[in-house]
Amino acid sequence: MKLAVHPLSKNPTAAWEELSQQQKVVKINAKTPNTESPSDKLRVVCMSDTHSLTPFIKFDIPMGDIFIHAGDFTKCGSLHEVIEFNSWIASGDRHKHTGTSILDNIPTLGISKDVLAEAIQTHNVKDYLTNCVYLEDAEVVLHGIKIYGTPWQPEFCKWAFNVPRGIQCLSKWERIPSDTDILVTHTPPVGHGDLCCSGVRAGCVELLTTVQNRVKPKYHVFGHIHEGYGISTDGKIIFINASTCDLNYLPSNPPIVFDITLPPGIQKT
Ligand code: MN
Repeated sequence: MKLAVHPLSKNPTAAWEELSQQQKVVKINAKTPNTESPSDKLRVVCMSDTHSLTPFIKFDIPMGDIFIHAGDFTKCGSLHEVIEFNSWIASGDRHKHTGTSILDNIPTLGISKDVLAEAIQTHNVKDYLTNCVYLEDAEVVLHGIKIYGTPWQPEFCKWAFNVPRGIQCLSKWERIPSDTDILVTHTPPVGHGDLCCSGVRAGCVELLTTVQNRVKPKYHVFGHIHEGYGISTDGKIIFINASTCDLNYLPSNPPIVFDITLPPGIQKT
């Protein structure tokens, strides 16, 4: 299925003004469940944008079967930050997670793509992520649930994984399999969790088109726009901006938790 680039792709605020006339956006106030997840459901715990500030987190991280981190886990992408994140994933709070940890994005803040590329080459940064599954345009299937992660974002400052809006963004999203159950991106789509405090919408128009018209995941988890933290739906897809850090880079937003029904015949083991 070939999707077209929206004429206002490069101006997401204007694109959304037009698109929103045919769109439903309902905010959801979901409470973290305080009972164990039933045997036919997987509990998914989502965080994003922790920016090497996990030592300052004051909330408890709930138990879950899968932990998803949607990127921006360091401040500047240095090797010691990656090592620290990797041990945080496996230590203390993390032990409660019986499943695999997923991330989709290597650090992006305050580091240019070139520098990052060099960092990855020099230190093999990804090799240090031993306690999770790193998803860069890749899928992992857990208990029959298909999770796809992709780190790309519409160009923003000089951060890593930038791509120009329009056809280049769309071509990244074209790689997302149509049978994805949980999509993890770093960027929000336009219209959900993407409203900046300046009043500008920073989400990707082509990502919204792709998730609504082709991929139709049950859940779309992302971060990036810290002030967009929260859950919303268009009536079909649940959109989750799981940014842990707020606008002031304080790690104050608790994880967002949901239970996803397992495919028929599959039980948690
Ligand atoms: Mn961030």
